[in-house]
Amino acid sequence: MSVGDDTVGDGTRAVRAGLPEPVKYEPTLPGPVFAAHFHLPGEPTGPYTYGRDQNPTWTHLERAIGELEAPGESVETVAFASGMAAVSAVLFSQLKAGDAVVLPDDGYQALPLVRERLEAYGIEVRTAPTGGDAQLSVLDGARLLWIETPSNPGLDVCDVRRLAEAAHAAGALVAVDNTLATPLGQRPLELGADFSVASDTKGMTGHGDILLGHVTCRDTQLAAGVRRWRKVVGAIPGPMEAWLAHRSLATLQLRIERQCANALALAEALGGREEVSGLRYPGLAGDPSHKTASLQMRRFGSVVSFVLPDRGHAERFLGGLRLVDDATSFGAVRSSAERRGRWGGDAVPEGFIRFSAGAEDADDLVADVLRALDEAGR
Ligand SMILES: *Cc1c(COP(=O)(O)O)cnc(C)c1O
Repeated sequence: MSVGDDTVGDGTRAVRAGLPEPVKYEPTLPGPVFAAHFHLPGEPTGPYTYGRDQNPTWTHLERAIGELEAPGESVETVAFASGMAAVSAVLFSQLKAGDAVVLPDDGYQALPLVRERLEAYGIEVRTAPTGGDAQLSVLDGARLLWIETPSNPGLDVCDVRRLAEAAHAAGALVAVDNTLATPLGQRPLELGADFSVASDTKGMTGHGDILLGHVTCRDTQLAAGVRRWRKVVGAIPGPMEAWLAHRSLATLQLRIERQCANALALAEALGGREEVSGLRYPGLAGDPSHKTASLQMRRFGSVVSFVLPDRGHAERFLGGLRLVDDATSFGAVRSSAERRGRWGGDAVPEGFIRFSAGAEDADDLVADVLRALDEAGR
């Protein structure tokens, strides 16, 4: 039994993920290595030469993430300074002028900015909604299919296996943005993706205090392209952030388990409120995504979305919460919520709330939300 294989549980794997062989008098998780360059006499061979190419703190973190993404398999992970650095690394290392790429039209809010850049470089960008596996209809001749499931912030789900099979049959590579689910919620490579991509700023590190991202692939050639891109643009994680992320992974299972349970409790409580419409949580039995989500997800995530009657109602609700920060982002141990429409960009109603369930006690969290709803309705 090894924590790298699939015979142990997620909690056991998380606490030991990526740890090196024990060395007497050394810490279990070696501290961050701060180095712009490494002592390197003679022939400049690796593994550690210059700080933009490799760093031992990244190596440990990348191994840990790889063990979580694909237990027992040999995969390569490349860590980045942010989720967007990871997203851009896949798109810009794999696509060239004349290629076509399929993006979701309801994905992360920076994707339209990415689209502008891709088009400026002569890449054809096609979009379709996540729900109903609609991206299938625009795959013909594409070089890359980009999937985001569950989508942020609408929480629609698509069938990754089905889309990946169709994309591969059409000669396209497949990347899944797995930010919302984390590898404990969903393992994109097992579902057929070539790239599992995530912003580790969210649930993966879970404390709302660092930005980070990663790409994991099985294919060493694809990984090499992504790694070369990191070297070229220099979108490298700081050693301190990488070390903090690795430390945070030890509690990943504890955090995700609690946050998913809290999200479900909250969704169930919201389902009984008449001022709430458009409630979405893939873990709710009645959710339009539940059937597909159940086939590919192991946990349903910490994000719940719903709509209050109007902007004023939503703002009163957010202002009345005591245990929940009015803040963007999601996946942290402290619950947060925001009126998504305040940013523009997402096609959501004015009263749309994206709620990220933290690790509070479920009873306290639900009580705070119900009280704030009562007050906002008065
Ligand atoms: C936040 C997010 C990103 C971008 O991540 P950063 O770490 O903020 O750069 C990409 N995809 C999804 C789905 C996200 O939620």
